[in-house]
Amino acid sequence: MLCPLLILLAAAPAVTAARYAGTRPNIVLILADDLGYGDLGVYGHPTIRTPNLDRMAREGMQLMQFYSASSLCSPSRAALMTGRLPVRFGMNAVLPPVTNRGLPPSELTLGEALQQAGYITSCIGKWHLGRKRRYLPLNQGFHRFFGLPYSNDMSRKNNPKHPIYRLRVVPPLPLMEGIYVIEQEPDQSQLTRRFTERALRFMRFAVEERKQPFFLYLAHIEPHPPLHPGERFRGRSPRGLYGDVVEELDWSVGEVLAEIRRLGIDEETLVVFTSDNGPWLAKKENGGSPGPFREGKGSTWEGGVRMPCIARWPGHIPAGVKSRAFVTMMDLLPTFAALAGVELPNDRVYDGADVSDVLFENAPGREPRIFLWVRHELRAYRRGPWKLHVITNFPANGTRKTTVQDPPLLFNVETDPGERFNVAAEHPDVVRRMLAEMEEHRAEVVRDRRGKRPGK
Ligand code: MG
Repeated sequence: MLCPLLILLAAAPAVTAARYAGTRPNIVLILADDLGYGDLGVYGHPTIRTPNLDRMAREGMQLMQFYSASSLCSPSRAALMTGRLPVRFGMNAVLPPVTNRGLPPSELTLGEALQQAGYITSCIGKWHLGRKRRYLPLNQGFHRFFGLPYSNDMSRKNNPKHPIYRLRVVPPLPLMEGIYVIEQEPDQSQLTRRFTERALRFMRFAVEERKQPFFLYLAHIEPHPPLHPGERFRGRSPRGLYGDVVEELDWSVGEVLAEIRRLGIDEETLVVFTSDNGPWLAKKENGGSPGPFREGKGSTWEGGVRMPCIARWPGHIPAGVKSRAFVTMMDLLPTFAALAGVELPNDRVYDGADVSDVLFENAPGREPRIFLWVRHELRAYRRGPWKLHVITNFPANGTRKTTVQDPPLLFNVETDPGERFNVAAEHPDVVRRMLAEMEEHRAEVVRDRRGKRPGK
């Protein structure tokens, strides 16, 4: 028979989730682009100054095991928006600037889930989930959109010699308001400031005029190269141009938090800060740092998918906690939906889960488990302390070459977070079990995708 204490402990996460379900806080999700795990002061960077993010961590929770679902922009954002592995709905590659594809409207997005609960929603910054009207934020759960439909480097100005830009196949980089292009090739050094001003204006409007809960998705274009710090930040950071743009991002976070305080909604507003994928190491000093992890953007090594993540909600999230709980970007949709009191559809598989117990009770969380796909290849798998690689690449060297690892490589990412010591030979049983689980997962994804066409 279980003792009463054990029953109580087992029931704790459900109790926490129930206590917070339907509380409908305002939600601010700030996303950096290609910011590495090691690029913030609070995550150990020696020269980049991030006093606002450091303070946000002291006032909230710093997640040490937060995973993106992919190390590339579009798939990572697709997972963030839906709570599902992007391979399930054909969004598992970076969308080029000219494409007819996008996040399938059949997916339930963060914006749509929160709109169902009566939130007013705004997407500011980079979208990169389809440039056609039916895929743009206004048709994917956002009342407002101000920003770029795709990456800041997909610009004619930036690529004068590249054939698709020289032949004018790609339009000049568009800055959009809703569904309209309002500027072409905007001055990128102004965008962090302009996005921030729009974010503050939206929060004021939601609180003072609409008096309804809001969801602000502020997806900055920095520090994704080309780097364009604003005038006030250029030449200021000892880390050079890259440090300048990260310090400007930190300024932006400070402005958002200060406005939340000014509006008197500190205790009604959950703020989450993270990045879409690891640093672009091939850009050398213009790319960021993966901290203690191996490789970066474009790879399934830890440096590609381990993200800095800070969550703050005074009075609800305990202050000054460094959590080692395993959390993924796909957990945000189930968590936000629960907070908003929205039930998720039961006709689809969710790869994320409600992590209210981690955020509000500092619970240890679930066993780490994530499958890492690149396009249609299942390349790596983490379960518990183990990480198995069956296909690897090293994009930091600027190569696109992939290598099939047969036999696969096995690392213990708790004792060896840098994935330096292959221990496959010592643990054949772990390798066998993980390979079998990868096959099971692949078969489940194939069943799930059957009958669904990408982009539909
Ligand atoms: Mg990115």
